[in-house]
Amino acid sequence: MPEIEIKVKGYKCNNCGAEWLPRSNKEKPLICPKCKSARWDLPKKFKEKDLKTRKN
Ligand SMILES: [Zn+2]
Repeated sequence: MPEIEIKVKGYKCNNCGAEWLPRSNKEKPLICPKCKSARWDLPKKFKEKDLKTRKN
């Protein structure tokens, strides 16, 4: 049996690194199913610390 690679669209948490598949591809998950973080889709460099040190 030949091996093939099936690619599906999933999500990866930037907070804990968990990867999962969405139940529905229409809705974007609000929180990470593993760490329950609502900021799972934000870049890791985006932290409160950066906001505090940011001068504008
Ligand atoms: Zn997570």
